[in-house]
This record gives sequence, C-alpha cells and structure tokens, in this order.
Amino acid sequence: MDRFAIVGFGCAGYHALKAMREAGCSAAVDVYSDTGLPPYNPMLTTYYVKGKIPYEAMFPFGTMDEIQKEYEFRLFQQRTVEFIDTGRKIIRCADGMETAYDKILISTGARAFSPPVGNLPAERIFSMRCVEDAVRLREAVTAGGLRRVLVVGASMVGIKLVELLHERGVEVVFSDLAQHIFPTAAFEGTSERIEAFLQEKGVELRFGVKTTQAEEQEGRAAVRFSDGSCVIVDAVINCIGTRTALSCLPPEEVRIVRGVVVDDHMRTSADGLFAAGDCCEGRDLCIDGTRIIGLWASAVLQGETAGKNMAGLDVSYPGTLVHNITHFMGIDFVSFGDKSLPGQRQVYLDKDGQYVEAVVQDGRIQCINLLNLFKNSGAVKNYMLRALYPHDTPLDPQMKAVLLKSGLPKELTDLLGGSVK
Ligand SMILES: Cc1cc2nc3c(=O)[nH]c(=O)nc-3n(C[C@H](O)[C@H](O)[C@H](O)COP(=O)(O)OP(=O)(O)OC[C@H]3O[C@@H](n4cnc5c(N)ncnc54)[C@H](O)[C@@H]3O)c2cc1C
Repeated sequence: MDRFAIVGFGCAGYHALKAMREAGCSAAVDVYSDTGLPPYNPMLTTYYVKGKIPYEAMFPFGTMDEIQKEYEFRLFQQRTVEFIDTGRKIIRCADGMETAYDKILISTGARAFSPPVGNLPAERIFSMRCVEDAVRLREAVTAGGLRRVLVVGASMVGIKLVELLHERGVEVVFSDLAQHIFPTAAFEGTSERIEAFLQEKGVELRFGVKTTQAEEQEGRAAVRFSDGSCVIVDAVINCIGTRTALSCLPPEEVRIVRGVVVDDHMRTSADGLFAAGDCCEGRDLCIDGTRIIGLWASAVLQGETAGKNMAGLDVSYPGTLVHNITHFMGIDFVSFGDKSLPGQRQVYLDKDGQYVEAVVQDGRIQCINLLNLFKNSGAVKNYMLRALYPHDTPLDPQMKAVLLKSGLPKELTDLLGGSVK
C-alpha cells in the first residue's frame, strides 16, 4: 500500500486529506502537525480576540477526533518535521523519528515575521498569526492593562487589530514604513480616504516611518521612529508580514523562490513532492505567472487540487484572482487584481463616501479598488474573472442593471462585462 504524508495540517493540509479520501484513495496517510490543535482558520483569530466568537469557532472543521473519524489517517501531533530527504523519500522529525513516504504534501503555511522591537521585553510584543497568538493577545486585552498600543504594519491584519482595540477604548497608534495604508492593494486616493476616516475616529497614524529604537520607560514602552518622534505605549503588535515555513525542505533539491514553486497540478520540482497553501507559489491569474497568494480560498483549492492529484486523478489548479476584502469600523474596502500592473488610472466614482478607482489596460481592468461598495464586490469579481477566462457569453443584462442602480457608472459596468449584446 502506498504511504502518503501531509506536513502541516492547516487549511491546505486538511483539504488535501479530504480530497484524497473523497476521491476514493486508500493509501495510508500520515499527518504531521507541529501543534496539538486541529486545523484552524487564522482569519478568525482577531474575532476571537474581540470576543465575537468562542475559542472552538476558530476550528471550522471540528476537533481532531471528529476529523479522524471522517477521514482515516495516522496523526503525529506536536511533531515538527525538521527535514525531508526528497531523494530517499524520508521524513525526519525534530525528535529524531524517521518515516518513509511515497508521495508527500508540504502545507506548512507561513509564520508571522516578528523581529524584536528595540530593547523591549517579549511580554510587550505581540503578533497575530496562530491560535496561541490570539489567546495571548486576548488575555492581555481583557486584563485591561492596555491603555495605548502601537500597531506596526498597515495591513489587512493590522486594521483588524486597530478596530478591536479601538472598540475597547484603547488608544491606537498605527504605523508603517509605507506612506499609506494597505500599500500593496490600495491606490493613493483610496488610502487617503481611509486614513482621513481613521483619523476622524481618533486613530493616530504614523506612516512613512519605521521603528528604530524602543525601551522601557516608567513602566511603559517608549518607541522611537526614524523621523525622530517617539510614542509611549503599553504594547507593540507586529503585523508586518509573514515568511514561508519551509526550513524542512532542501533548497538544492526543491525549487524555492519565496515559496515552493508548483505547476498547475501542485507538483514541485522534486519527485512525489506536492505543495499547497501559503507556503507555495501558485498561479495568479492577474500576472499569468506564479507567486505566493496567501488567501484562504486559494489554500482550499490548492489543497484540494494537490490531494486529488496525489490520489491519482488529473486535476489542474485554475489560478486565483488576487483580492482583499475587509470591513472595519463601519466601512469596507475591496480590491481585486494587482495595482502594480501597467495601464491607465481612472477614478470612476467619488461621492458620499463611496470611491472607485481602477487601472485599465486595453479595455481590461487590471486592478480595481471599491470603497464602501461591498454589495457590488461579488459581481465585480465575477466580471473580472470573465475577462481573465475569456468566453463568448454576453453580459447578463439584469446584473448590469443591478450594478447601475447601485451607483456604479455605465462606463465602468461596460468595462467590467462588455456591452450587452
Ligand atoms: C490574522 C489573519 C487574517 C487573515 N485574514 C484573511 C482573510 O480575511 N481572507 C483570506 O482569504 N485570508 C486571510 N488570511 C490568510 C489565510 O488564513 C491563509 O491564507 C490560510 O490560512 C493558509 O492556510 P495554510 O494551510 O496554507 O497555512 P496555515 O493555516 O498556516 O497552516 C500551516 C500549518 O502547518 C504547521 N507547520 C508549519 N511548519 C511545520 C513543520 N515543519 N512540521 C509540522 N507542522 C508544521 C503550522 O503550525 C500550521 O498549523 C488571514 C491570515 C491571518 C494570519
């Protein structure tokens, strides 16, 4: 009997296992997880810190016992895979245990990048990626000792932390080395509107500067920035990004750029080695190439694709339309596509707090920002996908009417779906 291994049991690992079993695969499957927890959804961690969901709700697929009852596998919990010998097809764990495999999936995700902040003690520094991070931050927030907090990293995770702290009456300083919020997804016009909104709510913004120094000062933390300014806070939360968790792979045997490079079947350059989720570079439809995508829906689909192919089916990963969708403090921001792609920039709507800006090239939207137009985002996404997967069906006139009624200008709806035939 074939022996398969899954290293890292998060969203991608779980969906690979599920897809294998649903495809009728009878191979023995070994699952390695460096936690003692069932797979969790990292995007729910901030909701747990907020107190909006109970602890168990962070585990959308149930307990480990429930998962094991549904999909048979052998579990190696709290076991960190240290090295994968891709030539001999042997896995070595940190405790020295070695096992063989025929096919293996790497779904080790990414880890929060949290460098030390000056000379501050570890208890003042937080990050937000895993369940343990959420539990620790929730304890600190509910203990009530946080009056003023510095959130570093104007990212989608950073803004959720700003929101939850603000909701609890904690003063927030929000900083980033970039000049504006959401630097990889938002056009300047969009960022400026969001920043004005945050400032109105009392959030102190420090963009275009980096933290250079920090030390304890009279029971609090004094954090200094590159422009010479200083803030006094009780804690620092780092949301400055992640790094792929790939230390178990030999880079001379497996092609790694920032993530493991995969083909459309989620195969890597090493025989029998597949990869899925945040640790790999999957197909991005906007650039028609591969890169790390870092989205839940991609981890689901990549995991499923890898699982099916490991089970012997022949399935391609269709690629992802990169998107960011976030709601915070009563507003919403949506972006689809890659803002760095070339094209003509145009503002389509700027009225009553709603804002739409896009980059258009040869009649095709490369990237679009929607502020406070969440209801339209599904339709906009579908239309962008239509452009990326060209086909002949004409635009649904009803949907176009809905978009027009909701305030999007005709010029934009024509662009999104082409003219009604
Ligand atoms: C705070 C936060 C908010 C987010 N919000 C959104 C959102 O709104 N929308 C969205 O689409 N996406 C969001 N994401 C991203 C999304 O959660 C991820 O893309 C997705 O969870 C990736 O799943 P994964 O299985 O690849 O990795 P992970 O969920 O990271 O799972 C990998 C697992 O492998 C384990 N592991 C790592 N190394 C080893 C090893 N050597 N041995 C054994 N086990 C190992 C890890 O501990 C982990 O359990 C968010 C992420 C975070 C952190």
